[in-house]
Amino acid sequence: MNYDVIIVGAGPGGIFSAYELVKLNPALKIAVFEAGNSLDKRKCPIDGVKIKSCIGCESCAIMNGFGGAGAFSDGKYNITNQFGGTLFEYIGKNEAIDLMKYVDEINLSHGGEGTKLYSTANSEIKRMCLQNGLHLLDAQVRHLGTDINYVVLENLYNELKDKVEFFFRTPVEKVEKLDESSGYRVYTKDGSYSCTTCIISVGRSGSKWMETVCKDLNIPTKSNRVDIGVRVELPAEIFASLTDELYESKIVYRTAKFEDLVRTFCMNPHGAVVNENTNGIVTVNGHSYEDPEKHTENTNFALLVSKHFSKPFKDSNGYGESIARLSNMLGGGVIVQRFGDLVRGRRSNEERIREGYVTPTLAATPGDLSLVIPKRILDGIIEMIYALDKICPGTANDDTLLYGVEVKFYNMEVEIDENLETCHKGLYVIGDGSGVTHSLSHASASGVYVARHIAKDS
Ligand SMILES: Cc1cc2nc3c(=O)[nH]c(=O)nc-3n(C[C@H](O)[C@H](O)[C@H](O)COP(=O)(O)OP(=O)(O)OC[C@H]3O[C@@H](n4cnc5c(N)ncnc54)[C@H](O)[C@@H]3O)c2cc1C
Repeated sequence: MNYDVIIVGAGPGGIFSAYELVKLNPALKIAVFEAGNSLDKRKCPIDGVKIKSCIGCESCAIMNGFGGAGAFSDGKYNITNQFGGTLFEYIGKNEAIDLMKYVDEINLSHGGEGTKLYSTANSEIKRMCLQNGLHLLDAQVRHLGTDINYVVLENLYNELKDKVEFFFRTPVEKVEKLDESSGYRVYTKDGSYSCTTCIISVGRSGSKWMETVCKDLNIPTKSNRVDIGVRVELPAEIFASLTDELYESKIVYRTAKFEDLVRTFCMNPHGAVVNENTNGIVTVNGHSYEDPEKHTENTNFALLVSKHFSKPFKDSNGYGESIARLSNMLGGGVIVQRFGDLVRGRRSNEERIREGYVTPTLAATPGDLSLVIPKRILDGIIEMIYALDKICPGTANDDTLLYGVEVKFYNMEVEIDENLETCHKGLYVIGDGSGVTHSLSHASASGVYVARHIAKDS
């Protein structure tokens, strides 16, 4: 089979490149290959009753399938260059913001209308943060919520399904470069398919496969960073002054002890803490629903510390995985600990968690995070919890829950140019799989960007 464009991966990067290509040039013959299922068939078997923990499905319903890793996410689209990736370094700051706004418009016209756009501009909270050694980053945040995010994806799929050929449960095994200027051939278990242009958008779950593609095709890469930390859960009232106005606030703190940067990440007002499975390792994440009926009494957010390594160590993801494995070894999955227990140097147990005033939204194993997380990182997290306590009193309460570990794995950075094209003409690498983006909005924007570039030449 021959196609004009083959897209590998149906996450936000792949979806938005398909969407824009169809819009700009409906004559193009486009195929999307996706390792996971179509949206309606994505169902994680963990029901908390019969199946309580990850059973390692062949294709993880949370990470793989139409909608990618973001399908069941909180659907927070951050319109900013200050975090979420470094797309602006390739395409310029204004272009990056314009594309993120364009993605927002598409989301709104596909079911997201009526959702709220929050902004940090002229916020009194910014001043209060500065007065307490905390730095609030600038952003606009569209919160779709897990429910509306799903509706938007459903609508995008219905619009695309007759114009683009989707191959679900069909991971691409290999990408081969054909003779000069004749394009690429992708190999799957069911056969091989050729194309003039190939867009690879395989996200974080495709990071190991991406490495093999880069090795096979001699595409230079460089090692990236890993973020390690915990997910904090506390009564929603404690953070209401921040979340009511901003929904999500990205706050950075420089620790007094080591001058490390600790930052808040992925804030979920009235949300739930959830397991995340990356390559068989269980880590923690969080989400929340737009629908008030699905709200919990708690707010959760991550506190993360970035680790960048210098020579000779290269395997930053391996380092993060080892720490996550340690928590899986001790707790059989994610560990939960009361803040009061952590600072007193004792493990949490079922009884102390039960007696606490914060009811956990995730059934994790009570334990001791100090046996898992390196001291320097844990010290930084404790310092930041006390700093946050100054702007949101109650954050450092004994009953505040800490879940560990939260790890943000970053793909190695693939060498691409200002068109997001590799050293091979017609082979583009976008989204989180490129190591350049780390968010829904940046990954989606990168998809639109390459589509426009390809459509211009087609
Ligand atoms: C629980 C959770 C919550 C999140 N919440 C947010 C949030 O609120 N806001 C935000 O900005 N970001 C959030 N993120 C991150 C966000 O989901 C990602 O940044 C985004 O999905 C990246 O898009 P992508 O298209 O680059 O990759 P992905 O979404 O990872 O999609 C890649 C797709 O490629 C497929 N694939 C991989 N390898 C192959 C192969 N060899 N052949 C075929 N297909 C392949 C995968 O199955 C996957 O479906 C969250 C992530 C998780 C896991």
